[in-house]
Amino acid sequence: MELLKGKTAMVTGGTRGIGYAIVKVFLDNGASVALCGSRQETVDKALAKLKEQNPDYRVIGLCPNLLDPKEVEEAVAAVKEKFGSFDIMVNNAGVSARDSIYSYAQEDFVRTMELNVNAVFCCSKAAAKAMKEQGGGVILNTSSMVSIYGQPAGVAYPASKFAVNGLTRSLARELGKDNIRVNAVAPGVTKTDMVEALPKEVIEPLIATIPLGRVGEPEDVANAFLYLASDLAGYVTGVVLSVDGAARS
Ligand code: NAD
Repeated sequence: MELLKGKTAMVTGGTRGIGYAIVKVFLDNGASVALCGSRQETVDKALAKLKEQNPDYRVIGLCPNLLDPKEVEEAVAAVKEKFGSFDIMVNNAGVSARDSIYSYAQEDFVRTMELNVNAVFCCSKAAAKAMKEQGGGVILNTSSMVSIYGQPAGVAYPASKFAVNGLTRSLARELGKDNIRVNAVAPGVTKTDMVEALPKEVIEPLIATIPLGRVGEPEDVANAFLYLASDLAGYVTGVVLSVDGAARS
């Protein structure tokens, strides 16, 4: 399958977990990809792992500060310069915490909102400018199932993901005229390092609440991104696509 042949993508939080799976499935479908991380060391490690699997992958690594408009614009320009176009922006980097409101530090709340919301704004703005110039593109955001149901602790995280849905639906309406589609994927519990480290006593009751009887694999989520990034989704915009096994927790 080469659903993204000739396309160029930038993926934030691409060094591990869901982001890494998105990078891999995009590369396997013929895209050129810039994977972004917060540290050069983890970016280099992810690049080496990918090149080991396929030395022909067209992939580069970057670590712009996602909250700095100038750094993000330079990163977008560097990707365009290297690969010749800028077609797909994936805003995937995110952090979460589960503190109670009674002990939640104001600065921790702000920090979560900064990466999960402000960075999505910053990267979407730079991406939209480049895409408008070339006649169109696709912006994709990683939301979460908690953007639909909330969660009983760590209020910044669900609040930030509600905002991601708001950015998605609003930018879809604003940017449609420029041929830019904007969608989000809302994963349920997904088997990244953090989830894999959970003890049996925690994970088993969790699985019992999921109708499909298992947690999601990063590839389950990445395949939804692949569909939304591809021309198969050419008339799909403003959507938050749940990939959660019908979990309702
Ligand atoms: P992860 O913790 O495995 O990876 C997070 C990524 O974000 C890393 O690549 C890291 O480099 C990057 N990152 C973290 N802080 C950063 C910063 N300050 N600047 C730039 N990059 C930074 O996460 P994951 O579980 O793969 O989650 C990826 C996305 O999926 C997040 O938006 C998360 O909210 C969402 N999500 C995850 C799950 C899940 O169960 N894993 C469920 C729903 C939604």
